[in-house]
Amino acid sequence: MKLSFVVPCFNEQGNVGNFYKRVEEVFRNSKYSYEYIFVNDGSKDQTYEKLKLLVNIYTNANIKVINFSRNFGKESAMYAGLQASKGEYVVIIDADLQQDPAYVVNMMKAIEEEPSYDSVAAFQENRHEGKILKTFKSWFYHLINRISEVEFVDGASDFRLLRRNMVDAILALPERNRFSKGIFSWVGFKTLYMPYEVHDRVNGQSSWSFWKLFRYAVEGFVSFSMTPLRIATFFGLVFSLLAFLYLVFVVIQTICFGIQIAGYATIICLILLIGGIQLFCLGIIGEYLARNYIEAKQRPIYVVKDIISTRED
Ligand code: UDP
Ligand code: MG
Repeated sequence: MKLSFVVPCFNEQGNVGNFYKRVEEVFRNSKYSYEYIFVNDGSKDQTYEKLKLLVNIYTNANIKVINFSRNFGKESAMYAGLQASKGEYVVIIDADLQQDPAYVVNMMKAIEEEPSYDSVAAFQENRHEGKILKTFKSWFYHLINRISEVEFVDGASDFRLLRRNMVDAILALPERNRFSKGIFSWVGFKTLYMPYEVHDRVNGQSSWSFWKLFRYAVEGFVSFSMTPLRIATFFGLVFSLLAFLYLVFVVIQTICFGIQIAGYATIICLILLIGGIQLFCLGIIGEYLARNYIEAKQRPIYVVKDIISTRED
């Protein structure tokens, strides 16, 4: 097997069929032998039924569908897909056709021509996103690259082609908190960055909300959700901000109207400020502790309900 397509699917009933057709269009007459690993990540729609249909109809194709018992997230789906893949090369690609399978041909060409590269990552030169989101993302990358030991490339997505040795290295990392962008760069190897245009989603909607992205970003910094601990962080920030605003107010009030009760305002401001900062720091420690707790439990990264395939193995 030359190439494996690892396709995480969450509520993609309108896309999986088209995705399969598009890949066939591009690859049927290519020199590569290839397989599909679809991971149904607890979809609430008819995705699984559609995938089942593919397996039942295209019996000559090499299709495997891993059906999760619930939604475990794209990271877990990718991990399961990588584990099941047999190809010499593996490409991780979304089911929504935002990432045109035609690029995979170029990626394959590039990696075959350049044996020194172990991975080809597609990155978006021009993001089709709102200004605010773009700004936040660029802040995120700026900050994370300053504080982190590994490099994060702005615009690089999970759309990647990996050589087997890199797949094995990724699979060897057993952590539950899987922040793939970090994992890809932590394992090292040589990555070629290839620009690509993201297409609009054909069907369904993106499962990324702003809040989800925020959480993903925190994951990146601290490398799951322990919401109460995060609330401590949140309160810390809010109180710090309120105290700061009050501080500014008191300074202006003092300048304009003089001191009313000596020292009172300063003490209140300081108590709030220090309290806020303490909660904030406690929150950060909590983030790490929470991850430690999750890792210590050693739960599996995903749970499979069933697997269907066109091939027996
Ligand atoms: N996905 C998944 N599990 C999830 C969320 C998303 O497997 O919990 C899949 C989804 O089906 C798609 C890919 O991950 O194939 C990217 O998701 P999405 O299109 O929502 O993200 P975006 O393209 O907006 O970054
Ligand atoms: Mg998408």
